[in-house]
Amino acid sequence: MNPVQNELIKSGVVSLVGPPNVGKSTLLNTLLGQKISIVSPKPQTTRNRILGILNEKEYQIIMLDTPGIHDATSPLNKEMVRLAVETLSEVDIIVFIIDATHPLPEKGKSPARYLEGTKIPSILLVNKIDLLAKERILPLIKAYQDQCEFNAIIPISALKNDGTDLLIAELLKLLPKGPRYYPEDIPTDSTERFIVEETIREKVFLMTGQEIPYSTTVVVDQFKDDTEKKMTTIYATIIIEKKSQKGIVIGKGGKKLQQIGTAARKDIEKLLGQKVLLKLWVKVKENWTRNPSFLKEIGF
Ligand code: GDP
Ligand code: MG
Repeated sequence: MNPVQNELIKSGVVSLVGPPNVGKSTLLNTLLGQKISIVSPKPQTTRNRILGILNEKEYQIIMLDTPGIHDATSPLNKEMVRLAVETLSEVDIIVFIIDATHPLPEKGKSPARYLEGTKIPSILLVNKIDLLAKERILPLIKAYQDQCEFNAIIPISALKNDGTDLLIAELLKLLPKGPRYYPEDIPTDSTERFIVEETIREKVFLMTGQEIPYSTTVVVDQFKDDTEKKMTTIYATIIIEKKSQKGIVIGKGGKKLQQIGTAARKDIEKLLGQKVLLKLWVKVKENWTRNPSFLKEIGF
């Protein structure tokens, strides 16, 4: 990375890792005060590496939201795990997140085993403490202390923005001195196009049943700005794997697709700060999750 400003501050890269669904993306959005990474109650929502940049006068924390570490069989999942583990070797601090409501993993089975042997400083976040009785928090932290060595263990609620100040304080203790790598006013390096695609995918995740989300990808075909009306028309295609899924995404009389479109449009209007007309299509591409050349085409 090339610095944009040479004055030394606290700066560096922090990787958010952990099993799927523990709140990695939620935490990144909360810290940024802005939604750049999509969130859903279903595991494996985040597919790519998302970068969020926390800017203050005295620091710049570059945070990577990775897909969860989990077992992989399909080529898409393998790629996601590769991304998650690879990011571990290129960062200044590893922030490992677990869900406070989950049972303690058996010895040696904790996903934190991926951190064994690394010399990189690490913090364990015990997230979702808003769902836990207060007296259960301390014993839980003790139990995790026995499992793995961390520089700090911090209970937080990413959703309620509780404990995040402690996290920042701890990060600042561990971060090296360095220059600012990104301009101060940029919260992410994701393009608007990418965030729009992800937003639509999130709504498909949230609004369709079991099998659909994992075989969905979204491509924005065109942005058309109307500067006079201060409005953007966005043409996007939802790509699914099987003909039989088309009816589910579109719904009776197009109702499901309409719901997906409305929810996505509201988020996109917030993101772009202007009125949006969202035109959605649904297209079948047989077995795209197992098609390496198509995966490459859409950026994996
Ligand atoms: P990721 O897969 O680790 O990125 O997890 P997400 O950020 O997508 O969150 C998974 C689910 O957990 C979503 O439904 C979130 O709303 C929920 N969640 C995340 N953090 C918290 C938290 O602190 N408290 C509660 N109650 N729910 C949370
Ligand atoms: Mg995520």
